[in-house]
Amino acid sequence: MPSSPSSPEVAVIGGGPAGLIAAEVLGHAGIAATVYDQMPSAGRKLLMAGRGGLNLTHSEAFERFVTRYAEAQPRLLPTIEAFRPEDLRAWCESLGQDTFVGSSGRVFPRAFKASPLLRAWLSRLESLGVRFALRHRWQGWDEDGRLVFTEAAGQAVRIRPAATILALGGASWPRLGSDGTWAEFLTRHGVTISALRPANMGFLLAWSDLMRGRFAGAPLKRIALIFEGTTVKGEAVVTADGIEGGAVYALSARLRDAIERTGQATLHLDLRPDLTEDALAKRLEAPRKGQSTSTFLRKAAGLGPVGIALLREASPSLPTEPRALARLIKAVPLTLTGTKPLDRAISTAGGIPFDEVDEHLMLRRMPDVFVAGEMLDWEAPTGGYLLQATFATGIAAARGALIRLGIPDAALTGGLSSATGQT
Ligand SMILES: Cc1cc2nc3c(=O)[nH]c(=O)nc-3n(C[C@H](O)[C@H](O)[C@H](O)COP(=O)(O)OP(=O)(O)OC[C@H]3O[C@@H](n4cnc5c(N)ncnc54)[C@H](O)[C@@H]3O)c2cc1C
Repeated sequence: MPSSPSSPEVAVIGGGPAGLIAAEVLGHAGIAATVYDQMPSAGRKLLMAGRGGLNLTHSEAFERFVTRYAEAQPRLLPTIEAFRPEDLRAWCESLGQDTFVGSSGRVFPRAFKASPLLRAWLSRLESLGVRFALRHRWQGWDEDGRLVFTEAAGQAVRIRPAATILALGGASWPRLGSDGTWAEFLTRHGVTISALRPANMGFLLAWSDLMRGRFAGAPLKRIALIFEGTTVKGEAVVTADGIEGGAVYALSARLRDAIERTGQATLHLDLRPDLTEDALAKRLEAPRKGQSTSTFLRKAAGLGPVGIALLREASPSLPTEPRALARLIKAVPLTLTGTKPLDRAISTAGGIPFDEVDEHLMLRRMPDVFVAGEMLDWEAPTGGYLLQATFATGIAAARGALIRLGIPDAALTGGLSSATGQT
């Protein structure tokens, strides 16, 4: 089988944001890097992320920001301190893409979508001498320790770079390239992998035929969801087989873990989070004057058809007593029986545990192999936390590779930081 005559200094495998930012750090340091990706173009999931608005990061106080990584916070903290939310904004702006803070504190590029940013980024990488080997599917290592790829025509390509950065993503939306097959190659080398699980996903719920038939796709606006004492205000959507949407994603890690433990989880839906139970009960004391229940609930409690259907779903014979009815409207029980599959999740939990890497994100069992992005075992809610940690770990892994290659500190600080205008 042919083998590539000139191996790059550093092979970056995976052309998502983690791999691309790693290649940028290497490029600024004057290191020849080649980005390998199995897809015909780089950054496909980034483009998908930009569809509904590319939420790059979040503007909340740093102390609060880092709590979003839950158990992974202590391990991610040094990397995110080295590349903070304001650095990500500055980097984006250095590519000619202004950013703005949305009403929720989330940060977006002014263009909202990802394509102008990705275009400018790829052109910067090209000017830095970063090479791309697209349609190259990584297959692990051969018995001589060389990286093996299969290129489009089915030929095997083998290389032995000085260092390798793995940035292969999680396993959600596999048609965009990240399919999680890397787990098998690393397991063969003794690396422990925590099971890849959905994160920021919808849940399954056994709706009645009526609910499914009439309300699949119905939005639930200005609601709150409550689970284990945590209340999240926001929006959700009824689907044919369950529920999903921003407020659901925010609670999804805890709901998923509860379902794994006990087989189901009861989520409570507050249909009127703007009213106290007292205020709502008072409104429901109004005389019904021959109105149908639906008309009464619409007028007295401001509920729409989907809200009323949800009440009936939870309690077919609705309570008539105002206080009991108010209590139900403020906490409609929804029994979740499972998670939507990983391939439709926004992100992936599980992956390479931090115990498997050193402080430079180098695999302890595989010297010269670094890992970055969603393939590491951390998770976070939506809100820009996913991309922030993806970028920060990409930078940390590239800096680790540079240190390993004996590149002096000056090149490390002069690279990405001078490009983004940081000091
Ligand atoms: C619908 C959707 C919306 C999102 N919105 C946001 C958002 O607004 N804000 C946010 O912070 N995050 C968002 N995310 C999450 C974010 O896109 C990811 O966290 C991020 O892309 C992870 O980056 P990564 O570089 O680690 O992996 P990826 O972007 O998945 O890149 C991995 C790359 O590796 C390549 N690869 C995988 N296996 C192989 C192989 N064997 N050989 C060669 N190449 C391989 C893939 O082709 C891919 O290009 C969203 C995700 C989705 C699905």
